[in-house]
Amino acid sequence: MMRDLTEVVGLKRLLERWGIDPDQDFEEIFSDLYERGEEEKVERIQEMVEGYFEDLELPDRPTIYDHLVLSLRDKDLLATFNWDPLLAQAYLRNRQAGLGLGLPKFAFLHGNVAVGYCEKDRVFVLDRVFQLAGRRCVHCGNPYTKAQLLYPIKQKNYSDNPFIANEWTSLKWGFSNAFMITIFGYSGPKTDQEAIEAMGAAWGDKSERALEQTEFITTQSEDEVNQNWDAFIHTHHYEVHADFYDSWIANHPRRTGEAYRNQYLEAKFIHNNPIPREMGFEQLWEWFRQFKEAEGVA
Ligand SMILES: [Zn+2]
Repeated sequence: MMRDLTEVVGLKRLLERWGIDPDQDFEEIFSDLYERGEEEKVERIQEMVEGYFEDLELPDRPTIYDHLVLSLRDKDLLATFNWDPLLAQAYLRNRQAGLGLGLPKFAFLHGNVAVGYCEKDRVFVLDRVFQLAGRRCVHCGNPYTKAQLLYPIKQKNYSDNPFIANEWTSLKWGFSNAFMITIFGYSGPKTDQEAIEAMGAAWGDKSERALEQTEFITTQSEDEVNQNWDAFIHTHHYEVHADFYDSWIANHPRRTGEAYRNQYLEAKFIHNNPIPREMGFEQLWEWFRQFKEAEGVA
């Protein structure tokens, strides 16, 4: 949570040294410094936050991130607000396994420490895959830059950033073309104007979205979900699960939409084919190879 950031990132002592009460709201502190033109301090905070997230690393065994990435196909879009590099790491290590399976496209809606871009050459994604921060641009040879992570509250104009604007365009495209939408660990857009607009457009015309299915993976109750998403859910086509492994994605990896159609639209009952949660990488990859022939991806 944003309010835990000061503690987690280790900013507390630094703020105290600057005579700032670290128990104030972090976003307020950052905004104040920004507005007062305290450039050095603003930069120092940005560096520390980035550094903290850059150091995060997945363990060597398969995690929920790996399961999620492997369960989606190249026709799927995985959009995240996360700054940490864990999804990118999961994507890279599973792609390197050479499974011959397409993996999802990504949208990093608030920027990400692992992902970079070249503004001059308009390189945001290449071969539908994100670029790694610090690697060199294929056109000009300059290192890819990262989108700024922190913005002052009163002017959250992060969509002015060309990388982030591009990611939101992807999200809107994904929403308007989706059959199933899964919202994972996100309580709903309340103050984030970009998010409200994108999601409003996605669910805008309820009459044309009669068959689609939306799923929420959250610890909130169904009532809370209803309340938080009131402006966006126009049908009864949704489910709420507290655990990812109870979701349609986890029970029908790589065939989620197909399984749903079979069961509910064509009324053919099908058995679950859940992700084997306990397997190590070699076994897990072998398990996922069962999908290769039907998908026909090189
Ligand atoms: Zn370039």
